[in-house]
Amino acid sequence: MGLNVIMMGPPGAGKGTQAGRFAKERGLLKISTGDILREAIKDGNRVALEAKARMDRGELVDDETMIAIVRERLLRPDARVGFVLDGFPRTVTQAQALDQIMEERANGPLVVVDVMVPEEELVRRLAGRMICAACGTNAGPGVEAGACVKCGGAMMQRADDNKDVVLERLKVYQRATWPVLEYYRKRATFRVVNGAQEPARVAHELDAMIADAAAAGAAVRAERQAT
Ligand code: AMP
Repeated sequence: MGLNVIMMGPPGAGKGTQAGRFAKERGLLKISTGDILREAIKDGNRVALEAKARMDRGELVDDETMIAIVRERLLRPDARVGFVLDGFPRTVTQAQALDQIMEERANGPLVVVDVMVPEEELVRRLAGRMICAACGTNAGPGVEAGACVKCGGAMMQRADDNKDVVLERLKVYQRATWPVLEYYRKRATFRVVNGAQEPARVAHELDAMIADAAAAGAAVRAERQAT
């Protein structure tokens, strides 16, 4: 039985870092829709290039495009082990489409974790964030431009990490993604972690919460099957 996790939270909450770590430790497939879009832009993909203007402004890419991307990845055989989603779903329409894909896959519980961080802290983290252009390593704020410690690639600011765009992305998050949290909140598999803590502490709490939520999800399913 696979384990499937959605890492929710505003830009800068550290969900990408936690999603990557958790997926690697558990041998799950990490799917970051932002990374997929940025890679597709680099490859000159037509649909992704059309999405680029919206991304550069901090706006959301349309649901149809995003759902098609995620559906294709999740239905591949290598996703059967389970996945960690980072950056999807961001709208209720995307969440509903994901539920449908989950029914088609019928493989393990869907755990949803919201990584919560106060807004002032998010702006501080994001406005100076440095990312490796080659491997995506996130060095956080306060790092000089130069070589990536992991792969030697160039450390750069993401085009959408300047302060105005950061504020727009946080506004978009509030408006479009908050209803997604409401969509999941009632479920036995929904958890909230305090993302303002040290990354190691967040990791520790997150792991315990995911284990607990997965067990709760299995119990709900067993009960449903029994009735
Ligand atoms: P991220 O790296 O997750 O912050 O995503 C960067 C940008 O890609 C976002 O600001 C959106 O423009 C776009 N994007 C990524 N995932 C989605 C999604 N699920 N729905 C709509 N737009 C998305």
